[in-house]
Amino acid sequence: MRDTLFLLDKIRFPAIRRAKLETLQVNVGYRCNQSCFHCHVNAGPNRTEEMPGAVADLVLDFVKRRRIKTLDITGGAPELNAHFRRLVRGARALGAKVMDRCNLTILEQPGQDDLAVFLAEQQAEVVASMPCYLQDNVERQRGKGVFAGSIRGLQKLNALGYGRDPALVLNLVYNPQGPSLPPAQAALEADYKRVLGESYGIVFNKLFVLANMPIQRFGSTLVSKGEFDGYLGLLQDAHLDANLDGVMCRNLISVDWQGYVYDCDFNQMLGLPLLRDADKRVHLSDLLDDDIDGNPIRVAGHCYGCTAGQGSSCGGALKEAAE
Ligand code: SF4
Ligand code: SF4
Repeated sequence: MRDTLFLLDKIRFPAIRRAKLETLQVNVGYRCNQSCFHCHVNAGPNRTEEMPGAVADLVLDFVKRRRIKTLDITGGAPELNAHFRRLVRGARALGAKVMDRCNLTILEQPGQDDLAVFLAEQQAEVVASMPCYLQDNVERQRGKGVFAGSIRGLQKLNALGYGRDPALVLNLVYNPQGPSLPPAQAALEADYKRVLGESYGIVFNKLFVLANMPIQRFGSTLVSKGEFDGYLGLLQDAHLDANLDGVMCRNLISVDWQGYVYDCDFNQMLGLPLLRDADKRVHLSDLLDDDIDGNPIRVAGHCYGCTAGQGSSCGGALKEAAE
């Protein structure tokens, strides 16, 4: 796979600083039952990195001590981590909202038969990747059989009340198939609701529209096809300063499976750690009694993926009315 960091690091991006920390996003490991083309984590069945119990304990301690509002759990398929359910239960018991970034097909994997019921009992918000409502497009990006498995997963969640009961939130995530900007979120959400509702009886709360990041597998493919500069140019041309205030790294930190801290999940995947005090790499244990509000954020060319057009964050478009 081709590295894109040396290309991204040459591109200037406006300086931004952290605001109040509200969300702790933890990547509990890179193992996944799928190997999607656009995966910015380069996750797959053969990855072995997995957050150990001691780091999971630290995460819960941090949620408690820093009164974190939201624990956002991602991977890989985060549910494959042995400590996933302990993290969910622990954070919910502390009053935090929990988000599970779920690939849907995990709900049918061996040993996960009760996963959907567990998530519903804990009232964990499910954020599920669904890059299109058409089978061909989903399977080109995510692999054969993934569309039908995803539909069954959504139906299972709906049967438990997800998407209907206000306490059981089900949001879907869309990203473009290739090197283009995502379409307007509100219009695409209406299309998804109509097609998935009419064809499969599926209901959900919101569609989050995300731009593809020019890193990992997707970035490498752009370089191989000679499309890297064109895609970066597209993102830069569409950049809006107004989106800078809303980028997710201002209120979130991303923690890797070993407990090291990054400004966001993309920086984690690029190996760009959050820095303080003359390049000292920060561990979550360093921040139990110390805050980082006002800290400069590590930016590079990929950050235009967050500020182009309607903007893009782990919660979808920053400005739904744009475009
Ligand atoms: S399901 Fe998600 S984590 Fe797994 S390979 Fe696909 S994009 Fe990556
Ligand atoms: S890529 Fe990460 S650091 Fe850059 S603007 Fe987006 S969230 Fe912030």
